[in-house]
Amino acid sequence: MEVRRSPRRLRFNGRFAPKGLQGEKVTSTFRTPSRNAAVGGVSNSFHTRRGVDGKPLARDSVPPPGMSMGEYHRRLKALNPNYDVINEGDHVHMEPKG
Ligand SMILES: [Zn+2]
Repeated sequence: MEVRRSPRRLRFNGRFAPKGLQGEKVTSTFRTPSRNAAVGGVSNSFHTRRGVDGKPLARDSVPPPGMSMGEYHRRLKALNPNYDVINEGDHVHMEPKG
């Protein structure tokens, strides 16, 4: 479940370069609008957008083997204080902060 964003936040045009953990698996970054709709993403998702450097503005990932989602979320938050880091239950979603 992703939160619908305000129009102001959608004007983000900076760089998005989140830090991850060794052994994690990135499960989703950029999605075309049709792919995003197919997986149930909201229509204004950061997954459908790229930054000024051409890189996707959202990243989904799962923890290294043996690490809980809660622990993984906590560590990613500590590593990425300038981004929104959201525990979605079966993955952690990161995107630019509004
Ligand atoms: Zn996501």
